[in-house]
Amino acid sequence: MQNRSDLAVTRVRHPLKFRLLQVTQVRHLTPHLTRVTLTGDDLHDFESASFDDHVKVFFPAPGADKPVIPQAGPDGPVFAEGDARPVARDFTPRRYDRATRELDLEFAMHEAGPAAEWAARAQPGQYLGIGGPRGSMVIPTGFDWHVLIGDDTALPAIARRLEELPKGTRVATLIEVGDPSARIEFATEANVYSEWRYRSETGGRGVALLQAVRETWLPDGEGYVWAAGEAATMRAVRYHLVNERGIDKARIRAASYWKQGAVAVHETLDD
Ligand SMILES: Cc1cc2nc3c(=O)[nH]c(=O)nc-3n(C[C@H](O)[C@H](O)[C@H](O)COP(=O)(O)OP(=O)(O)OC[C@H]3O[C@@H](n4cnc5c(N)ncnc54)[C@H](O)[C@@H]3O)c2cc1C
Repeated sequence: MQNRSDLAVTRVRHPLKFRLLQVTQVRHLTPHLTRVTLTGDDLHDFESASFDDHVKVFFPAPGADKPVIPQAGPDGPVFAEGDARPVARDFTPRRYDRATRELDLEFAMHEAGPAAEWAARAQPGQYLGIGGPRGSMVIPTGFDWHVLIGDDTALPAIARRLEELPKGTRVATLIEVGDPSARIEFATEANVYSEWRYRSETGGRGVALLQAVRETWLPDGEGYVWAAGEAATMRAVRYHLVNERGIDKARIRAASYWKQGAVAVHETLDD
């Protein structure tokens, strides 16, 4: 494969920072996706270089007003002695506005879990802590084509990527959600082919997404595939694309954003 230097994925490091933020707005984009707008002076130097970024979100302990937030130490977070560790989960910085110091996070709603439960009851005035992003993988926008694959948890990253891709960029999105009520509209100038698949029509989780990936035609030229969602599905998606469709391992980034039956899982998949 021809290697164009402008198509190299680059890693950007950011100083580790922890920030205390307050909710200003809660919007239920669909019955399954809740957008929370956060603000705070701590955001004055917030940076997020890639749609693939995440922040670690710290939730208040039951009955507490504010979450426990660590200090940034030389080797990572340092908690004050005696402080109980807060519940922490990873979320995508969906939108950041430096002028207004606003950060949007979007929560995919599901049955049980502290993050989903917090989002279901979120109200303006509440506090959350965030750590990071510590680093960003910047995937160039100049590929001949892009494929974005994911489930509900990948919607914020996919929506952000579509907003950021230049006008006319050729991109296919393959997305699995529960049913049509979970669909969202994308604001984009890219040239998008969207494939929505529904668990309500196929039963098992990941079945519809894997089917969509199998059916997808991949154009010639230099392309990049980004995928995120449930661990077993992401493994199957990556396996299919690399081993059965010949996608170069350097041209795919697949991540487990969560794992059925486990809490707080994050894994970038390789061999
Ligand atoms: C880099 C990265 C970015 C992410 N960005 C986002 C984002 O922007 N928005 C978002 O909603 N999520 C995002 N996630 C996924 C999110 O961190 C997980 O879904 C997380 O487990 C949710 O925490 P919880 O407290 O609700 O559930 P947990 O306490 O972690 O899990 C409780 C139970 O729920 C299950 N579970 C967890 N998530 C889901 C789900 N979505 N659907 C069904 N069952 C689930 C678990 O398997 C477990 O059995 C991201 C993850 C990573 C690694």
